[in-house]
Amino acid sequence: MVLLEHRHIIPTVMTPFPIFPFACVHEDNQGHSSEKWRDFLWEVKHTPNALAIGLGDYMDFLRQHARDFLSLYKTDRDSFKKLHDWRRKAADDFCEKYLDPIRDKLIGLSLGNHHHEFGDGINDTMYMCQQLKVPYLGVGFFIRLQLAQPNRTVHQTFLILGHHGHKISTAQTMGGSVNALLKRAGSLGADIYIQAHNHQKHGTTRPELTATRNGTLKLIERPKAFIRAGCFVRGYVPNCVTYAEEKLYEPTEIGYVRLDIIPKQPYDPEKYKQNVEQDKKLSGKQGNLRYEFKTYS
Ligand SMILES: [Zn+2]
Ligand SMILES: [Zn+2]
Repeated sequence: MVLLEHRHIIPTVMTPFPIFPFACVHEDNQGHSSEKWRDFLWEVKHTPNALAIGLGDYMDFLRQHARDFLSLYKTDRDSFKKLHDWRRKAADDFCEKYLDPIRDKLIGLSLGNHHHEFGDGINDTMYMCQQLKVPYLGVGFFIRLQLAQPNRTVHQTFLILGHHGHKISTAQTMGGSVNALLKRAGSLGADIYIQAHNHQKHGTTRPELTATRNGTLKLIERPKAFIRAGCFVRGYVPNCVTYAEEKLYEPTEIGYVRLDIIPKQPYDPEKYKQNVEQDKKLSGKQGNLRYEFKTYS
């Protein structure tokens, strides 16, 4: 499990911002939708204060079984050098064409089940992270997302838990996919859960009820978000037998989920009066700041 702290500097405590998880680009697949993929990159690049997280399967290349099979061939290691060079070039092109322009918004990239291993413990996702100078998020990750204004201390944190989702749930129906995600999240303590892999796209939110541990005893409702990150590849392509067609899977849901995090300050007449009397302006520490999560797909 990779643990990562990421500080997000926003202009004010009341600035909303979106998180864009993305996965299953499968850029070298016949069904890849370059149109949707470019729409996604455009939106991330042009949305102020946006963050993006990659959840694997950037290119098709090889699944686990094929990689295992390939690694059994030990006689001529030199022939793999050409293969490694080819995949390094593919990773370089992918970074240059697509991820470089959003690099400043990218928290990191995690690993899917489609990737290439260079043989020295480095896979192509790690390699892309090195080129982009962003953190590698491994197979599963916890991100402690810290919000702060420029030159101020952290005023809020959110925990994000992500995993590509292979070997966890391959639910193909919307209900099965949502239930699998909620069930899995039951024993995990995060605010935002993200999975991918089944090429389904949906985002849902629900509050968690708790009470204050210190100070005045009050009920607190904290929002939680559950996201299946979608994909940028069609399951069915004319005149081509795809993996989805072989298994007669549901058509994929092309696209992505956007999660908006919106600060809310409930109106408190007493607090307002106090602030006016003391001529206080909104500062970093806002005791009664609440957040709303909204998903769009
Ligand atoms: Zn995929
Ligand atoms: Zn996958």
